[in-house]
Amino acid sequence: MKRIMLMILLNLIFAISLYSQSMPYVLLISFDGFRWDYSLRSITPNLEKMKQDGVSALSLRPAFPSLTFPNHYSEITGMYTENHGIIGNNIYDPFTGEKFSMSTKESKWFLGEAFWETARRSGIKTASYFWPGSEMDLDYRRPDYYKPYDHSKDYLERIDTVIYWLQLPPAERPHFITLYFDDTDTYGHRYGPNSPEVNESIARLDSLTGELYARLERIGMIDSVNVIITSDHGMTEVSKDRVINVAEIVSDYDCKLWGHGTMMSVQCAAEDRENIYRTLYENRKHFRVYLKENMPSFYHYSKHPFIPDFLIFADMGWSLEKGDSLGMTAKGVHGYEKDHTDMHGTFIASGPVFKSGYPTGTLWNIDIYPLLCDIYNIEPRSNVDGKLERIEFILKGK
Ligand code: AMP
Ligand code: ZN
Ligand code: ZN
Repeated sequence: MKRIMLMILLNLIFAISLYSQSMPYVLLISFDGFRWDYSLRSITPNLEKMKQDGVSALSLRPAFPSLTFPNHYSEITGMYTENHGIIGNNIYDPFTGEKFSMSTKESKWFLGEAFWETARRSGIKTASYFWPGSEMDLDYRRPDYYKPYDHSKDYLERIDTVIYWLQLPPAERPHFITLYFDDTDTYGHRYGPNSPEVNESIARLDSLTGELYARLERIGMIDSVNVIITSDHGMTEVSKDRVINVAEIVSDYDCKLWGHGTMMSVQCAAEDRENIYRTLYENRKHFRVYLKENMPSFYHYSKHPFIPDFLIFADMGWSLEKGDSLGMTAKGVHGYEKDHTDMHGTFIASGPVFKSGYPTGTLWNIDIYPLLCDIYNIEPRSNVDGKLERIEFILKGK
């Protein structure tokens, strides 16, 4: 009896180790706000090596609005923001008065399904060293291993934890891991995308990439881990000379203006709505104004019930403010329309599943979820906006 049990156990261990050997590894990295052209400044030798070994897209198109939470969640769910519900970094529920912020963990705000949930259901172990949505308050909607967001966590420690995860025994080892760094976003806001400080930040993230590969080599996994470097959005320069005083335009009306910068919403009495809209429309210089029912479909920003019903979007590089004093401190901003190339991010991928030495055009971040499903040969959710056929050509043999 004991011998039979031992045989079963040995067979099980053998099966797990065979299964895990054949299952791909993917490390999905986000460099926040790493604009599409940052890797073209001749200061990124490690990214250059990845491009030579793998796939590099001209740019990665975000979803609207080009902000951090909406786009990390679009990338990991394959959905436009109006469908996955993370319509901003901060959200207001007009029906209950509840608010969402970047530290909210209640899973009810996060619609759709993150890739780690799809993967877990298929028996793939997952881990996240930060990603919006990875800390949801329901166990089955989180990665198997995750870390509470800690902005000041040392970057090398993050990488070392990933390396530790990759060395866990086969039955515990995650095969899909996310990793996040804020650096280029932080410096992009503070100094602007064309500043020497941002170039230093770009170089820092590049050498971190070098450190990652050195460690993968040390643990003998350099040829087995697929590394995908993405960014959630780009960055553009703003100026105090490009400011729109919206309060002045609607000063004849009794209405409330919410938000500032790239997007503003208008709250007013129903009987004033049409007149305020017309006033804004007639004065639309450097901004566009939409009533929710007329929102052009290319924004993919109208279906969700929490999207305000009266919106103003600033033109690229312009800022919407309520007065002209403007507490504007940022030199760089994102949040503008997804089709402006300054809002586009980066996509570089290298590893056994990817074609090598393969530059290509712009990819869409919503297509990364179906791509991941294809890499692991698992069924994507049927309600995603992303399409495998727009991205699968970057895989070997396709
Ligand atoms: P944004 O305002 O769109 O530029 O957001 C960038 C900021 O989002 C970063 O500087 C972080 O402080 C924050 N952030 C990024 N990822 C997370 C996360 N997983 N949890 C909480 N905050 C985050
Ligand atoms: Zn961001
Ligand atoms: Zn930012």
